Amino acid sequence: MTFFKKLGKGFKGAYQALSSDEYEIKNVKAKCIHCGHNNFERGEAQLNTAGMTFVNLDWANENAYLLSCKDCSYIMWFAEQPKKIV
Ligand SMILES: [Zn+2]
Repeated sequence: MTFFKKLGKGFKGAYQALSSDEYEIKNVKAKCIHCGHNNFERGEAQLNTAGMTFVNLDWANENAYLLSCKDCSYIMWFAEQPKKIV
């Protein structure tokens, strides 16, 4: 039983090492401003939805990118696409 548990952990660790989840914007590594971790989930969002029209910004007529901290779940927004660090 413990052997399989260990095996599972090993696979998970290898997988996490293979798929980097660190990003950079303008050559600056993204770091969570809330908890300081630097592992993120990247997402995209359309800004020109009905819910966002009240903001009334020109640049809002396009995509925005978000990085969600894998540790504390804080979401940081970027107008430019964050680059994955490999
Ligand atoms: Zn965080």
